Amino acid sequence: MGDCIFCKIAEKQIKADIVYEDEQVLAFKDINAQAPVHVLVIPKEHIPTLNDIKDFSITSRLMAVITKLAKEYKIAQEGYRVVANCNAAAGQAVFHIHFHLLGGRNMQWPPG
Ligand code: AMP
Ligand code: ZN
Repeated sequence: MGDCIFCKIAEKQIKADIVYEDEQVLAFKDINAQAPVHVLVIPKEHIPTLNDIKDFSITSRLMAVITKLAKEYKIAQEGYRVVANCNAAAGQAVFHIHFHLLGGRNMQWPPG
């Protein structure tokens, strides 16, 4: 939609390192990886923030892909983190919803 970078990735107008794709969901490597595994899992549909989700069936589709990728990357047993930033206080930078799948190293808590 409009100038959205993740819509452009979904429409293949901008290149990304895509690791999973189906009719509704796309997953690609984060361009600024914060862990050995750092994948973004997005709906192809443009939804700006978590607050804008109307049909929550997309969240189970996204979660199914996240857990499948965690197994494929062999981080499911050791552990991984799933993050979704919503709006300014959380530091959301791209306003097309996405879950970060992070793994391959030990994580700190609380997050920054
Ligand atoms: P957030 O702060 O949750 O909105 O995170 C946005 C994420 O998108 C950041 O981790 C960026 O590194 C990542 N990102 C931005 N542009 C791209 C891109 N073209 N390809 C892959 N990841 C991107
Ligand atoms: Zn978008």
